[in-house]
Amino acid sequence: MDPISAVIITTSIGIFFIGIIVFFSDHKRSSNIIFSLICLFFSFWAITDFLTDIPKFSKHILLLSKLTFVGPIVIPALFFYFSLIFPVDTIEKKPNSLIYKFFIFLFPVFFLFILPSSLIVKKAFLLQKQEIALGWKVGFETGSLYFLLIFYAIIFIISSLIVFWKNFLKSRGKIRSQLKCIFIGVTLTVIFSLFFGFFLPVFFKIYALAKLSIISFIFLLFATALSITRYYLFNIKVILSETLVGIIALLLFFQLFIIDKSWVRVINVGIFLLFCIFGYLLIRSVLREIKLKEELEAANKELKRLDEAKTEFLSIASHQLRTPLTAIKGYIGMIEEGIYGGVPEKVKEILEKVNDSNERLIRLVNSLLDISRLELGRMEFEFEKVDIEEMLENIVDEFHIAARKKGLKLVFEHPKEKLPEITIDALKMRQVFLNLVDNAIKYTYEGEIIVKAELKDHGNERIRVSVSDTGMGIARNEIDQIFKIYRRGTGVRLFPEGSGVGLYVAKKIVEAHNGKIWVKSQGKGRGSTFYVEIPVRKSAR
Ligand code: ADP
Repeated sequence: MDPISAVIITTSIGIFFIGIIVFFSDHKRSSNIIFSLICLFFSFWAITDFLTDIPKFSKHILLLSKLTFVGPIVIPALFFYFSLIFPVDTIEKKPNSLIYKFFIFLFPVFFLFILPSSLIVKKAFLLQKQEIALGWKVGFETGSLYFLLIFYAIIFIISSLIVFWKNFLKSRGKIRSQLKCIFIGVTLTVIFSLFFGFFLPVFFKIYALAKLSIISFIFLLFATALSITRYYLFNIKVILSETLVGIIALLLFFQLFIIDKSWVRVINVGIFLLFCIFGYLLIRSVLREIKLKEELEAANKELKRLDEAKTEFLSIASHQLRTPLTAIKGYIGMIEEGIYGGVPEKVKEILEKVNDSNERLIRLVNSLLDISRLELGRMEFEFEKVDIEEMLENIVDEFHIAARKKGLKLVFEHPKEKLPEITIDALKMRQVFLNLVDNAIKYTYEGEIIVKAELKDHGNERIRVSVSDTGMGIARNEIDQIFKIYRRGTGVRLFPEGSGVGLYVAKKIVEAHNGKIWVKSQGKGRGSTFYVEIPVRKSAR
């Protein structure tokens, strides 16, 4: 077999497969059916053309030459129809669609009807030796309606191009890419096939390159296959792997008939069968991968949606919660101050407990609000110059009573030299330190809590604040986990009031100041030290 014929046969087999795949991918859609028919007729065209050149069939060259015209007769009409219904099957919706179809298919029916006569092909003959090149061995004498057929083909293909172009201009997004793809494919095919299959043989009597007109259809078919499968890369992967497996299987199969030694044939049958099995497995795995990817994508989308909904809910709920909590705080304050009359000591004690719980709730709600702000990207910072030493002193003062109640010593170790002023969001950084001291008191049964501030590294000045306690400590494997959202250490089951959000928010706030937060602990029951480090100069982002 000469190389050109081999290419044509392989292409036609491949295209036949593409047609079948497209048909079975959704056989209810008209565009899929029409495209599959185009593929089928193209394969028929290539096969009959191939048979014409085989010397064994030279007795039937007239019949075979006529059969090679079936493809070129039917394809332009099918393609024009395809241009009308792709990518949206609109023609069905038109009231006069039957008339449409009738007019479109009137032409191919007419040409097919006259094909057996000599109106299109008068005579077919074997070419002289010097004319034979690239496998083209048969020439033919054109009949009187041959040019009408060419005219019909050109008009229909150009009309399809115009329809595609118009749809292309109107379309957007994915459909636009699909139409662009087809438009390029059609244009390349038309230029190539007209040049090799019509101009050269008809005007210059060069038959030698005419076969290239068939090969040029590859452009169109691949472009269309690309767009028909919704311009979707994964499907193309399937199409390609299926086509490749199909072609190789067929070649292996044909090879069985060429071999004459029986033992080689047996080996080849084995290879063929093995290939079929592996090919099947390959296609199945590609299909499975695609299905998995699609499912994952869908699940991912759903998760994102749920996550956004959750954050939005969190934000709304926290706002609603904050107002009554602030009101409670106000009323407790007023009762304690005796605005509504004298309060007995016993009630005062209880009020204090109510106030403590309320404060905790307020902090939790504030943290939840911060989380929703962080996740929605709505956290805003107001930077100002702050004396951090003063800030820490105030915080330690605030917690004195709470520490004393638990029998803990709480001290603030002043730095040796005065710390420089630092540009930070005072409220948010205060919240970070409050959380660290609150945790230290919460998770320590006895001993002391030391808050320290110092200036580090004189080249690149940073202020380092540390809060160390003699409390329950943190297990080595939990050290990285506790800064994640809703994560709590395993030892805190005795403290149901925690929520696992404080350190997460603190980390985000510190990072927004270009700083670092970390913890060191010798292990369970051996205390822990939390560090926060913020650059003095570039603390604001
Ligand atoms: P919460 O304290 O509400 O649980 P945080 O985010 O503030 O949430 O802390 C997360 C976890 O880190 C805590 O549940 C606890 O396991 C651990 N942790 C925080 N501070 C300390 C500390 N000072 N000592 C021991 N464990 C701590």
